[in-house]
Amino acid sequence: MKARYQYRFYPTDQQQQLLAQLFGCVRVVWNDALAICKQSEKLPSNSDLQKLVITQAKKTLERSWLSDVSNIPLQQSVADLGVAYKNFFDSLKGKRKGKKVSSPKFKKKTGRQSARFRIGGFSIKGDEVYLAKIGNVKPLKSRQLPSAPSSVTVIKDTAHRYFLSFVVEVESIRIDAKNQSIGIDLGIKTFAVMSNGEKAISPDYLKKDRKIRKLQRKLARQQKGSKRREVTRIRVAKRHNQIADTRKDFLHKLSTKVVIENQAIVLEDLNMSGMVKNRKLARVISLQGWREFRVFCEAKSEKLSRDFRVINRWEPTSQTCSCCGYRWGKIDLSVRSVLCLNCNTEHDRDENASRNIEMVGMGHRHDLKRAGSDCQTTPVASCCEPSRITDVERR
Ligand SMILES: [Zn+2]
Repeated sequence: MKARYQYRFYPTDQQQQLLAQLFGCVRVVWNDALAICKQSEKLPSNSDLQKLVITQAKKTLERSWLSDVSNIPLQQSVADLGVAYKNFFDSLKGKRKGKKVSSPKFKKKTGRQSARFRIGGFSIKGDEVYLAKIGNVKPLKSRQLPSAPSSVTVIKDTAHRYFLSFVVEVESIRIDAKNQSIGIDLGIKTFAVMSNGEKAISPDYLKKDRKIRKLQRKLARQQKGSKRREVTRIRVAKRHNQIADTRKDFLHKLSTKVVIENQAIVLEDLNMSGMVKNRKLARVISLQGWREFRVFCEAKSEKLSRDFRVINRWEPTSQTCSCCGYRWGKIDLSVRSVLCLNCNTEHDRDENASRNIEMVGMGHRHDLKRAGSDCQTTPVASCCEPSRITDVERR
């Protein structure tokens, strides 16, 4: 199994210049190759593309400067484009798991820059990493690489931070889980409520987000191409990075804990695009990072040989008693606790949902399954409407 290990580093002024040059060349090669692919009916082979956009391009006046940088990242750029196309086609054919992959895009001069070195283009000597035609750089290692990396990507992000990202092969680790299974209900007020009663509250992103929105309004007023606008742009990017770092840190810690402790992890498939259409909620939801959390849990489950399951989003997990299976119907979001009139148990709404998610995921309750249309048309019962709950026929 492959994993990424990323470390920050600080290049010297000269290295910054050399890297800027390299990023530019990698970008041009990618964009030239992409332009050729878009024009051709059949995708040209990797080696044909390399000949056109690297070897032959170097002989022309407009692209002669490609010779000034290491050839390895340039070849890698063409190879990566091939992979991007393959992922796109696999995704179209439904051969690829997860999110839909869009067609490869042209790379911009503004935005995140990167260049990838294969074996032969880089080497590791003690604390330092040698990059071809760039020199030695010293990454800040928070943890050791578990094995020799097969490639390293040099990244400069929008806030002008530099990173080395290594791809390494890792073996799956054996840690025995304490518990059999866990169900997790993701929400906005409380990030995650778990079927064992634990809760995880996410950091408060709103204060920083408000500042970003203010800066973005300022950015919109500033003249394009001006120095002041560039300063504001970097400030916005830095704040975005801060939020993303805080969120990643939180999600990594939580997903690690959940996956280490449990043999099976069950999440609910959330209708993100539908939810994000609600504009008021959209920004708050995207700040939470539910999708990211799921990706982390899934990857870590593979690493630790855990069972990762996702249940259908139409399961009425908040409409059913997790103790006796009695279904009370839809309740308004404002209702936080429910008293089951069948078995007299009082439930916290989210905890009850997470227990149901666990049961459905583990196959202990198949009878919960209903068609989507049925759930959509269920009327919303208000909290002070006990008749609705008592009227429904008993199972
Ligand atoms: Zn009950």
